[in-house]
Amino acid sequence: MTETTDAIVIGAGVIGLAVARELATHGRQVIVIERNAGIGQETSSRNSEVIHAGIYYSRNSLKARLCVAGKERLYAYCREKDIPHERCGKVIVAVGEAQVSALEALRERARDNGVGDLEWLDAAALQAREPAVCGAAGLWSPSSGIIDSHAFMLALQGDLDRHGGAVALVSEVREGRVEGDRIRLSVASGGGAGSGGGSKRSADSGGGTGTGSGTAASSSTAASSGTGKGTGKGDSGPGESNAGREGSGPASTGGDDGSGAGVSEIEARTVINAAGLDASRVARAFAAGDSAAGSAIASGNIGGASADSEHAAIPETRFAKGSYFLYDGPSPFNHLVYPLPVDGGLGIHATHDLAGSLRFGPDVEWIDTVAYEVDGSRAAKFAHSIATWWPDLDPARLNPGYAGVRPKLVAAGEPPGDFLIMGPAESGHGQLVHLLGFESPGLTASLALAKEVQNRLG
Ligand SMILES: Cc1cc2nc3c(=O)[nH]c(=O)nc-3n(C[C@H](O)[C@H](O)[C@H](O)COP(=O)(O)OP(=O)(O)OC[C@H]3O[C@@H](n4cnc5c(N)ncnc54)[C@H](O)[C@@H]3O)c2cc1C
Repeated sequence: MTETTDAIVIGAGVIGLAVARELATHGRQVIVIERNAGIGQETSSRNSEVIHAGIYYSRNSLKARLCVAGKERLYAYCREKDIPHERCGKVIVAVGEAQVSALEALRERARDNGVGDLEWLDAAALQAREPAVCGAAGLWSPSSGIIDSHAFMLALQGDLDRHGGAVALVSEVREGRVEGDRIRLSVASGGGAGSGGGSKRSADSGGGTGTGSGTAASSSTAASSGTGKGTGKGDSGPGESNAGREGSGPASTGGDDGSGAGVSEIEARTVINAAGLDASRVARAFAAGDSAAGSAIASGNIGGASADSEHAAIPETRFAKGSYFLYDGPSPFNHLVYPLPVDGGLGIHATHDLAGSLRFGPDVEWIDTVAYEVDGSRAAKFAHSIATWWPDLDPARLNPGYAGVRPKLVAAGEPPGDFLIMGPAESGHGQLVHLLGFESPGLTASLALAKEVQNRLG
């Protein structure tokens, strides 16, 4: 039996949940299909939890536009839903005179992006605002802040629930097929679902491994579901399971793909691919267009004659890991503190969580296989970098924390890329949308992106 629904979102990270909520509030019947046993267990629980102002991104890029619009929406949503957050502001530091012109260029770029509230700090003003920080100059960004990303995702899920939507957990989309104006997915639920079947994750990856212990269609519509706050960032793997509560989701046909998972079919008019680190692989599985041949997501083997040329249009997602070190001691900073950006990232910066705990990171390490363990030997590199703007750092207080992986659409050494929204025009189907390369500032941009997707679908 094939289940039918109006819209399916693949992936219950912050992007998938925001899009699902937006569609549901517009009267669409939405199911989110998630391979893990809880929402937000991958990149969305492994980041800095910073609400970005929109400073760094190229003029007219999606990153710039969606970050600036998303920031305001996010602050408003936090106030409306009582989501813990803090508009604490941040300083960006030019460490020596040689960096001052680069800091000036950043101020111009921010202005181009519509960020008009930055304040230039000379060395004395920087010292007055952040006495522990040394630098030749600084930029003060009052609209930067921090958010409890887990509470945010729970609020999104709660809204989805209230509008009749559901999240089907421990359910992995294995195949995608466009059939006329319908899109049909094969979904493995329970058993081996959530193992990241065929993905490049290594065995120690906390984020890619669901427990597979759920029922065939472990679904949850509960806003009380845990997303792993507290344990969500350790190497032991994020998240508490919220599997168990039955909701609407793909019903297992009792079929078995050999891994113990029940395989079922679900059909929808609209499909949004928000599969994060696996979004390119999922997109390629649809690239055979209306071909009768199904497309295997898990194996990466694509059926259909047109697959090769269409695949060429779908960029590969590359992985840039970012590790964090936690600081054992009180924070000497009043705000978030960032150096100038580096290739692939924003530079090893100081942020605090809402409890005030200080952490440093992320750095940039290009990897082929997603893995989340933090290599303690990186502490020396962290200490060297941080000491350039915080000379009183005690390196012995740096302890390995957690890591996240950026989904990048560019390779190491290339200029920064943009988010990519493929669809409906680019996906070859009026109701199929692929969301690729949602690295930072994806958390900040999520509500604006959701609106954009809703508008494009019409
Ligand atoms: C180190 C780091 C720091 C960052 N800091 C910030 C920051 O401070 N501020 C900011 O705005 N942004 C930040 N970001 C970016 C932000 O975290 C991401 O943009 C955002 O979390 C991406 O969300 P997502 O939903 O696309 O991905 P994910 O959270 O990874 O969700 C994708 C989901 O899809 C599921 N999935 C994949 N394939 C399948 C399948 N076949 N079937 C079913 N489910 C599937 C996965 O299990 C996963 O749950 C940071 C990112 C990193 C890596």
